[in-house]
Amino acid sequence: MQTALADFIRSSPAGPEADAILRSCVHCGFCLPACPTYQLLGDELDSPRGRIYLMKQLLEGEPVTARTQLHLDRCLTCRACESACPSGVRYGQLLDIGRALLEERVPRTAPARVQRYLLRRIVPYTRRVRALLGLAGAVRPLLPRALRARLPSATDPAVPAWPAPRHARRVVLLEGCVQPVLAAGINPAAAQVLDRIGIATLRVAGGGCCGALSHHLAVHTESLAQMRHNVDALWPHVEAGAEAVVFAASACAAMVRDYGRLLQDDPAYAARAERISALAQDIGQLLAANSGALRAAMAELSAGAGTSTSASAPVRVAFQAPCTLQHALRAGGLVEPLLTAAGFTVTPVTDGGRCCGSAGTYSLLQPELATRLLRAKVAALEAGAPQLIATANIGCLAHLRTGTTLPVHHWIELLAARLNGG
Ligand code: SF4
Ligand code: SF4
Repeated sequence: MQTALADFIRSSPAGPEADAILRSCVHCGFCLPACPTYQLLGDELDSPRGRIYLMKQLLEGEPVTARTQLHLDRCLTCRACESACPSGVRYGQLLDIGRALLEERVPRTAPARVQRYLLRRIVPYTRRVRALLGLAGAVRPLLPRALRARLPSATDPAVPAWPAPRHARRVVLLEGCVQPVLAAGINPAAAQVLDRIGIATLRVAGGGCCGALSHHLAVHTESLAQMRHNVDALWPHVEAGAEAVVFAASACAAMVRDYGRLLQDDPAYAARAERISALAQDIGQLLAANSGALRAAMAELSAGAGTSTSASAPVRVAFQAPCTLQHALRAGGLVEPLLTAAGFTVTPVTDGGRCCGSAGTYSLLQPELATRLLRAKVAALEAGAPQLIATANIGCLAHLRTGTTLPVHHWIELLAARLNGG
């Protein structure tokens, strides 16, 4: 694609990057069938190619309007288009640049500004989310079903104990912001599974948000401050020899994998951020790399029980692979074999690359599109008659719970339960 970037962007640090990305797009359109919003709306401007064209206009200094903003807002940032693109167009990075510029040029309405401000001031802070959920819990019967389904429930399984570190191999886990409140058992379950395969998990509690929420709302000074805070919190563990920075939320893993690039111009943080990004991985990636040890732990369990784990109670599970796992981390297909090895029957899911509609704050900011995507995703997941649904990201988990009567869990909780004889 030919470009003629405007002076204001050409001379900025983002200019060369934006120019290179725009030029790499050859307009082939292979990304269109992969794009959930194009599939729903059928409008070229709600496709990756159309949005790239809108961002080109913006970067070339042409007038932009609320219509430009609407089409970029409707993007889920799912990055399915990147997986489908034969030219390797880094659409997500271009969108980061485009959205930040657009925020400066097209003012939002007062209610939209307030909504975005409240999301940024509440969601990334564990204590604030806990307080809000406490209030919501007090009026639970009065809430709509979709909202009730997002709240922790008295019938949720007990939170497992965090195993004391007893192995030479060590990883560090950033607990995150929302997950410890909405599903407090996930991180301890990850630590338990790792403990069973000979890896101790050190936790960084109160580290706060990985920065994804503010980043995707294009408030980059705020997200960069959160990233620096996490680099400071993680670094002592990395220096002490942690072999990985691990996450039980694929969205956080994907964000931290980008710290090195996003902090590259900060001399005080660039080197540490790059090292942390290189070590960052989703729990599924870490376990897939240690699947031999996991299978051995399962075999030991079966031998101890005097029966085959996989033959005892094959629970049927539909796995929803989050976009951040598939398209950002490029780690699709890793979790299903681990569930199978643990004795679960993984049911087929058609169109597994399609977003569920959660997408960070998308389900709150674009509720109509998010609900349509949720319905389609739940139908695909339930088609194989599973007994429960598993996923790998807290946002997807909370969103899916609003659309199905089946139990929805993080897959690592299923593995931990199986290793504990459940
Ligand atoms: S983003 Fe990739 S797949 Fe889509 S039109 Fe451009 S080159 Fe083709
Ligand atoms: S990130 Fe997802 S929603 Fe956005 S253009 Fe790409 S495929 Fe479409």
